[in-house]
Amino acid sequence: MANLLTAARKTAQGQRGRTSTEDVDIEGVIRPTFLAGRLPTIKRSISARLGELVSATSMDGPTARSYLLKVKCVREHVFTVSSKDLLRGCWCPPCAEAAKRQLLVAALARMGKHAKRLGGKCLAPAYESARAPVAWSCAKGHQWAASWDNVRNKKSWCPTCARAASRFR
Ligand SMILES: [Zn+2]
Ligand SMILES: [Zn+2]
Repeated sequence: MANLLTAARKTAQGQRGRTSTEDVDIEGVIRPTFLAGRLPTIKRSISARLGELVSATSMDGPTARSYLLKVKCVREHVFTVSSKDLLRGCWCPPCAEAAKRQLLVAALARMGKHAKRLGGKCLAPAYESARAPVAWSCAKGHQWAASWDNVRNKKSWCPTCARAASRFR
């Protein structure tokens, strides 16, 4: 039995050089399983996102329905993900976090630009959501709180200036 395993490992190692991680589980033993058939799909999905498959380990023995994958993204972060989640669209957590941060920074910049066009300022330290009330100031230095949603879509601006304008009408 030990010999058989060693032989299998040797074969696996020999083939690993040529076939990378294909069909190789954590012990280096090649076995035809349900999973083997999924590897091309998994690899296509990874290379479509410019990533690289580092290793694939079957998660729970010969009846495994999912791989635990180690994947390297285009920015060289190495992360682990189950093949099930990967095929569902999950990808590199640090990249997702960075992309989210970038979106938040862009959203805050949009709010700032909008306020500047109206002669005022957006005083929010960071973007949270379109519905969260944040502080604004108008050209006259009045300050009030309103959500980005209200300011952008409902075209609301300084309530103090609005009240003054309606008094003069
Ligand atoms: Zn990444
Ligand atoms: Zn005002």
